[in-house]
Amino acid sequence: MQNEKDEYKVHVKGETGEVVCKIIIIGDGGVGKTSLLRKYIKNQFETDYLPTVGVNISKQNVHHKGKDYNLLIWDLAGQPQFFLLHKVYYNGANAVIIMFDLTQSASFTNIKNWHKELVKYNLKDIPIILVGNKTDLKKERKIIKPMADSLMEQLDISVYFETSALDGNHVNAVFEKITEMIAENRK
Ligand code: GDP
Ligand code: MG
Repeated sequence: MQNEKDEYKVHVKGETGEVVCKIIIIGDGGVGKTSLLRKYIKNQFETDYLPTVGVNISKQNVHHKGKDYNLLIWDLAGQPQFFLLHKVYYNGANAVIIMFDLTQSASFTNIKNWHKELVKYNLKDIPIILVGNKTDLKKERKIIKPMADSLMEQLDISVYFETSALDGNHVNAVFEKITEMIAENRK
């Protein structure tokens, strides 16, 4: 039977039987969304700040418990002028990475606003991972674990990782976990 949630599921079966999943990354500009993705896909890190224009979609094939998953990871610029694109961006997402910068309090406060977008687009029940990035900047850290814990409780998010797109800390773990959560959610 069709229900509201089914509309948002786009688990398309490819010819080779792999599962295609749309993962979106959201969070303020500058938190490291593009860098995290680059580190994961290419194991590369660029230090220049080039605000993303439009949307980039990266592909990654992963194998999880005997199945092939084709992750399509959408990376949108956090800048307000691109907010018009959001409907297209959010539509049909299977999982979300919602990200802030551990050294920028405003990006952490804004997580609530990003989460409101998920509610608005009816996505709050798909797998969500909260990510606090830039663990390498130890001295500049403003957000500590208990603050993240309390936010998770408020927003009903159960998975949190602290990452560094610079040194790679927990970067692969985020994507391994999200694949696992997508796989669980399909059951
Ligand atoms: P986006 O706007 O969220 O896509 O952020 P970017 O990936 O463009 O990164 C913004 C800036 O933060 C760039 O100068 C990156 O080099 C830097 N950056 C991203 N991730 C990290 C990190 O984990 N550690 C440090 N030290 N810098 C980072
Ligand atoms: Mg970017």
